[in-house]
Amino acid sequence: MEQPRIRVVLVEPEGKINLGFVARSAVNFGVDELWIVNPKIPVDEEAYRYAAKARGFLRKAVIVGDLSEALAGVDVAVCTSSKKGGRHDVLRHPISPEKLAETAGRWRSIALVFGRESTGLTRRELSMCSIVVSIPANPEYPVLNLSHAVAVVLYELWKHRAGSPETLYEKADSRLLRLVEDKVRILVELLGVKEPRRSQVILSLRHILFQAAASRKEAQSILYLINKCIAKSGETHADTADN
Ligand code: SAH
Repeated sequence: MEQPRIRVVLVEPEGKINLGFVARSAVNFGVDELWIVNPKIPVDEEAYRYAAKARGFLRKAVIVGDLSEALAGVDVAVCTSSKKGGRHDVLRHPISPEKLAETAGRWRSIALVFGRESTGLTRRELSMCSIVVSIPANPEYPVLNLSHAVAVVLYELWKHRAGSPETLYEKADSRLLRLVEDKVRILVELLGVKEPRRSQVILSLRHILFQAAASRKEAQSILYLINKCIAKSGETHADTADN
């Protein structure tokens, strides 16, 4: 199976030692790119020292000002968080790194987004991702050190690289899945669904579409249904306007 290109994205990292360790793990596990959003520390000799043989890789890191820049052109954005949301907080309904690894081979490129040591990722940043991953850990203290969290996620992806079986059916690519999301947006608009329900519906559908190993046919079937609903509610609206 083709391997996705992997980009690690660190959002506002605060520690040089972590930065060095992240670069080292990234090279250990064959990551292609490191992007850093608005680093809070200079990327200097101390960070390079902790990167050890990954010093050259750290030197090539791309530094940008906002997460949206680091996600541009990437097939699928995956955010990470130690926090699991409540029953209603779909923004934080995560899957495990293992589950992510099972479906990762289907994408052309993946951005793995990790948050600040102090406060993690904001809700705005989490809402920019298609999948949320959480490493299962001691419920009394589930927050890992940043560089350790990076290593765990990368190791799970690494384990699956060679060995994952070919799927027997053609997979839905990210363009098709995004099209389904766009159509749902149109539908909820037509139906007059209001916030916060509107975002909740769209985000839930996006998570489900990207987490599941949906085949092309499955995604097309959902698209067919949504298009039918759009056509139907368009008619209803036209009727109401006529009367
Ligand atoms: N106080 C912050 C801690 C962030 S730890 C918070 O509670 O959000 C720094 C980063 O490491 C997180 O943003 C996340 O990217 C990663 N991380 C730490 N523990 C994790 C876990 N159990 N699962 C997934 N990512 C984790």
